[in-house]
Amino acid sequence: MSNSPDGRGPASTSEVQPDDPRKGVLIVVSGPSGVGKSTLIERFLREDSHSEFSISYTTRQKRAHEIDGKDYHFVDEGTFESMVAKGHFLEWEKVHGNLYGTPRAEILSILETGKDIVLDIDVKGAVNISGQCTAARLIFIEPPSVGDLINRLSLRGEREIETRMKRVEEEIARKGEFGYTIVNDDLEKAYGTFRKVIDDIRREDNGTNNC
Ligand code: ADP
Ligand code: 5GP
Repeated sequence: MSNSPDGRGPASTSEVQPDDPRKGVLIVVSGPSGVGKSTLIERFLREDSHSEFSISYTTRQKRAHEIDGKDYHFVDEGTFESMVAKGHFLEWEKVHGNLYGTPRAEILSILETGKDIVLDIDVKGAVNISGQCTAARLIFIEPPSVGDLINRLSLRGEREIETRMKRVEEEIARKGEFGYTIVNDDLEKAYGTFRKVIDDIRREDNGTNNC
């Protein structure tokens, strides 16, 4: 590279590479159903103005408290399949008999703005994303015990507990594939660790390297 007359920088503008503005970090939160992912994420998003939630598409029935377009985009199977065919999803999986997909374009455009994005997806989906987006950071939320998990699902009024429990051992066995693991025993303590992990991720990440 040639230097400018004062010797302090590149001579021609074609060689000038303006610093890339910081891009957001893809923060993938995963773990068994009922472990407390939404609880941790919702509180974090209320307190943090530098991140957004990635709203997945699903064919599952909407729960009473859920809002279409906020918790999920609720679609029928035909719509979901045609979105798969058009490459709309960064990843998608069948979870507990329903289809769930992470929208590609929405995520990438938010990352471009410099905001971090938080995903709440199943373990297979998380590992899939980390294969495609090497800069994604994966956080695994673990239950204190399987018994605690069953209690939490019953408290939530979940009716498909057995279907969900079948996957738990399988999912916990994959926690080694995640960069960070947090046991959600005491909620306040787990939330403190969750925030600290995200602070660490932000400190370590140079924000330029996404999928
Ligand atoms: P997920 O999003 O992982 O499926 P949720 O966040 O919906 O799980 O939590 C499932 C249930 O467990 C909710 O009723 C929630 O209030 C409760 N819960 C979450 N964290 C804790 C905790 N540390 N101790 C006790 N109950 C919890
Ligand atoms: P729920 O039906 O309880 O909201 O979610 C069931 C499971 O699907 C959870 O483990 C949740 O993290 C996961 N999930 C939600 N959205 C997505 C997605 O877009 N992709 C994948 N792979 N899993 C998802």
